[in-house]
Amino acid sequence: MSEKVLVTRAVLPEFDEYVEEIRDIWDSHWLTNMGAKHNELEAKLSEYLKVDKMSLFSNGHMALELLLQAMNLEGEVITTPFTFASTTHAIVRNGLTPVFCDINADDYTIDVNKIESLITDKTCAIVPVHVYGNICDVEAIDKIAKKHNLKVIYDAAHAFGVEYKGQGICAYGDASMLSFHATKVYNTIEGGAICHSDEALGKRMYQLKNFGIKNEEVVDGIGANAKMNEFQAAMGLCNLRHVDDSIAKRKVLTDRYRELLADVNGVKMCNEQKDVKHNYAYLPVYIDATAYGHNRDELWEHLKEYDIYARKYFYPLTSAFDCYEGRYDVNATPVALDASKNILTLPIYPDMQLDVVDRICECISKYAV
Ligand SMILES: *Cc1c(COP(=O)(O)O)cnc(C)c1O
Repeated sequence: MSEKVLVTRAVLPEFDEYVEEIRDIWDSHWLTNMGAKHNELEAKLSEYLKVDKMSLFSNGHMALELLLQAMNLEGEVITTPFTFASTTHAIVRNGLTPVFCDINADDYTIDVNKIESLITDKTCAIVPVHVYGNICDVEAIDKIAKKHNLKVIYDAAHAFGVEYKGQGICAYGDASMLSFHATKVYNTIEGGAICHSDEALGKRMYQLKNFGIKNEEVVDGIGANAKMNEFQAAMGLCNLRHVDDSIAKRKVLTDRYRELLADVNGVKMCNEQKDVKHNYAYLPVYIDATAYGHNRDELWEHLKEYDIYARKYFYPLTSAFDCYEGRYDVNATPVALDASKNILTLPIYPDMQLDVVDRICECISKYAV
């Protein structure tokens, strides 16, 4: 009947624009290892995102993992379980212990009122997540971190281009991780970055993403391989020219969803955050089964029958993953647990047509009781 609507669709530049961008690579024969495209992208992205320093990586996960290694952290890290696998895995893979803090029910970011009771003499850092591009309470987190002498590292994978009070969101904290995966607001096919303002930290990350190699004869870090290659950077240079347009289109779609879902009982969208320039990365709706008449999972199945593929994002909580069985108590973060059971993210991507939003919203409102 109608075309399949997936939750997202990767943004691509015009084919000819990319071909033009990669022509230089054929001239230089320089394919990877911090080449000209890589360096150009690093400079242009730092400017666009209003951050001091940036280090590019092959993907967001390796960026976070190697950042934690470069910071020489030890002990416990306060974080949230309502996130993508990457956040928790990066902590655990560094030999650190995640301590799960609950989230708040308004924007699904870390509940700043619950952080301090989790701090012990082993706590070394806080790793909050700007979930769906909704920003954490960066000011409260900064205060707590300063008081207890903790590092703050944001998982900003969802927050590309988000600004708070005119500042780039990645300028907050000691460092922020961005993901440029195909499914994100801005992509370099796969890719990621750490934004920071510490030259020594930048140097350590530069070495760690290239096997810990310091120079031709000295290897002084147990590094990995996580370099962004020239084809990724070329895609990034092309997509950067169009990202403002992408975000503007996402806003139009979000406004339409907001208008059409406003009167549907039991379907709740996030409020717009104050002083925030948003990126409209995701379209999460909270389904209150009592008011709506069906629960989240039922709506998810119902939409599939109409070729609409929404996502249970994030479900399950990372603390409930099979690989962590028996280690964490999901009931210790009841708001996060509830969010994981009741939130559905609806399709949104820049070249989606408004009548598709109409179709999705009609499907949701007609299914209500
Ligand atoms: C996408 C994502 C990551 C990982 O980024 P990759 O570039 O896919 O490695 C980390 N955290 C969150 C919250 C994400 O959504």
